[in-house]
Amino acid sequence: MATITVNGTYVYTGSAIKPSITVKRGTKVLTENTDYVVAVSNNINAGQATVTIAGRGNYKGSTSKTFTIQKAAHTLTCPDKISISCAETTKSIGAKGSGQITYSSSNTGIAAVSANGVITKKGTGSAVITVLIAGDANHNQAKATVNVDVVYSHSIETVKGKAATHTETGLTDGKVCRVCGYEEIKQQVIPVLANPFADVPAGKYYTNDILYLLDKGIMSGLNKTTFGVGKNIVREDVVVIIHRMEGTPAAAKKASFKDVPAGKYYTDAVNWAWAEGIVTGYNKKTFGKGDNIIRQDFIKILYGYAKWKGYDTSAPAGKYKEKEDASQVSAYAVEAMNWGYANGFIGNGSPFRPKEEISRQDAATIIARFLRKYT
Ligand SMILES: [Zn+2]
Repeated sequence: MATITVNGTYVYTGSAIKPSITVKRGTKVLTENTDYVVAVSNNINAGQATVTIAGRGNYKGSTSKTFTIQKAAHTLTCPDKISISCAETTKSIGAKGSGQITYSSSNTGIAAVSANGVITKKGTGSAVITVLIAGDANHNQAKATVNVDVVYSHSIETVKGKAATHTETGLTDGKVCRVCGYEEIKQQVIPVLANPFADVPAGKYYTNDILYLLDKGIMSGLNKTTFGVGKNIVREDVVVIIHRMEGTPAAAKKASFKDVPAGKYYTDAVNWAWAEGIVTGYNKKTFGKGDNIIRQDFIKILYGYAKWKGYDTSAPAGKYKEKEDASQVSAYAVEAMNWGYANGFIGNGSPFRPKEEISRQDAATIIARFLRKYT
């Protein structure tokens, strides 16, 4: 009588399994197909299978041995962790496996899950989704868990808009999620303010500069609807402009100009500019209130202010001589006009006309260029 030893262990594969066996008679190991032939039965599904040998050649008779085919494991892959942001509402788990997958959520108030593995967010927090493939005759169950973190709501913040000016469009306030950028309320463009000055038509060389200075609070009109194009600027208004550029500081001391009475719109400005050495009067008693100012004197005051501010006022020496009417510049104004020309404030495509009175619109273009360069 021969003995059969089944070697190793066997797991369900879906195919017939032929086990490795050792057959002995006493201590003699017999040889398959010489001494015996093998038949295996019941050897596809999990459970007990039977291997039977039948003698050949010198051996007769048959004997059987059972062996076990173990259940196989299902394959199951899915992520350990899923995050659902404020910008998302659903997310697929994307599980894959060798059998029918079922899903269940530990907290459906936070994350509900559909039969096909799609999570729908219901609240902020964490939930655990159990992913399962049930066992069957030939397989053990497979199980995995997915930790789900849910952010249900956007984190809405107000984004401040800005007012429109006469030269730049504005924006309304908006509401935006600071996490995902979702715009609950989109910012809307506010159109530029209407030009209030009837005498400042669109598209003139001075139009944008006048509106720019109006927006900055540096230069306003003669009244709400008239800028004063074609009118010349008076000395005290030049000083008022510079005083505003500086933020209307108080004067350290008062000048003794008889033509600058207390309480006028220009009084503080004249006292401040005089105290700081930015302007002088004609003499100790006369500022020259109400007098028009000539173009080289206007540049000289602006130059004095730039130096007082500590701005870079360097300019190539003698640059102003390029201009056709450079010889008309007075000696006392040469340095200022050279600076003004080198920086493109004056003589930009037109003669200096240094001794002509300067118009309000030309003063505006020069001040605007100055501010764009230095501030
Ligand atoms: Zn968001």
